[in-house]
Amino acid sequence: MLVVSHPELKGLFAETLENSLQNAGLSFEWTLFPSGEAQKNLSTVYGLYDACAQAHIDKKNAVVALGGGVVQDTSNYLAATYLRGVPFIQIPTTLLSQVDAGIGGCAVDHPTGKSLIGQFYQPRAVIMDSSTLKTLPKNELVNGIAEIINKVICLGGSRTDGFNQDIRAIINGDENKALDYVKSSNKVKLGIIERDETGTNETRFLLDWGHTITYALERTLNYSISHGRALGIGMHGAAVLSQQLGYLSRDKVRELKQAIEDAGLPAELPVHVDNDKLINYMCLDQKVVARRKRFVLLRDFGDAFVSEGIDDNQITSCLDEIRERPIA
Ligand SMILES: [Zn+2]
Repeated sequence: MLVVSHPELKGLFAETLENSLQNAGLSFEWTLFPSGEAQKNLSTVYGLYDACAQAHIDKKNAVVALGGGVVQDTSNYLAATYLRGVPFIQIPTTLLSQVDAGIGGCAVDHPTGKSLIGQFYQPRAVIMDSSTLKTLPKNELVNGIAEIINKVICLGGSRTDGFNQDIRAIINGDENKALDYVKSSNKVKLGIIERDETGTNETRFLLDWGHTITYALERTLNYSISHGRALGIGMHGAAVLSQQLGYLSRDKVRELKQAIEDAGLPAELPVHVDNDKLINYMCLDQKVVARRKRFVLLRDFGDAFVSEGIDDNQITSCLDEIRERPIA
C-alpha cells in the first residue's frame, strides 16, 4: 500500500494508522508532499506516480489518501490513472473533506482554472474518524461548515432553525454533532450522484450549487481566500441571482445570508474585486457549454435547478448587490 499524506499529518496520525495496518498484516510505505491548495495539480500527481513506481504498487495494492481535500483529490486522480486504476481508500481528516471530498470523483486544477482535470473513480472504502477533527484549527472547521450549509441546507432542504447552535457545538468540539452533519451531507451528495454518476445529464451539476462565483473568486484572489470563505460569498451570490431572476424569495436569501454569517463566514464580495475579472473566470467554469454560462439556481432550499443562458448583465447586477458597502 502507498499512504499519501502531508508531513504534519503523518506526525499526528502515523501511530494509529500504522498500528491498524500492521495488525491487519498489511505492508505499506508513506509518500508525503507539502500541504496547501496550490499543490492540487498535475505536478503533484506526477511526483506521486514516481512514489507508486518505487513502492511497486500494482492492481492488488491500494493507494490510501490520509488528509484533507488536496490529498484526497490528487490521490484519487493518481489511483484512477496509475496502471489505469488501482484500489483506492480514502481517510479524509478535515471537516471539509469529510463533508465533500469523500465520494463522487476527483479533480485537480489547471493554471487556467479550478478543478478542470478529473476522473470519476470510486474508492473501495471511505474511513472517517471524527476524532481527527480535534486537530483542526477553528478556521478549518468553519470551511467545512460552509460545505454543510451548501449541501444540508441549500441542496438537502434542512431547516435553518437550531443550525446556529449546532455550529457553535461543532466549533467547540462536539464530534457527534459534526458526525451527524457529515452523514446528512454525504446523504445529500450520494442522492445526487446516484442519479447521475458521471455528469451525463444535468443532475450532477446541482452539486456545483454556489460554486460558480466561488471558483472564479478563488482564482481572482489567487487562492488567498479559503474555499469555505469563498463559498460563503458564492452561495450568497447564487441565492441573490436566483432572487433577482424571480425564483427565490427575499426571505430565503436573508435566511441563507444569516446562516452563512452565523458560521463566521463572509457573505459579501470584497470591495476591490473586479466584476469583469470574475465574470471572465466564470467562463472557464465546468458548466459552460458553447460559451453560454450555466448557473445552479434555487427555487427554495432543497429545490435547485440548472439554468442556462444567464447573461453578463444579470451576473453584474448580482455581484453589485452582494458587494460589501464601505462604511462612510
Ligand atoms: Zn466546495
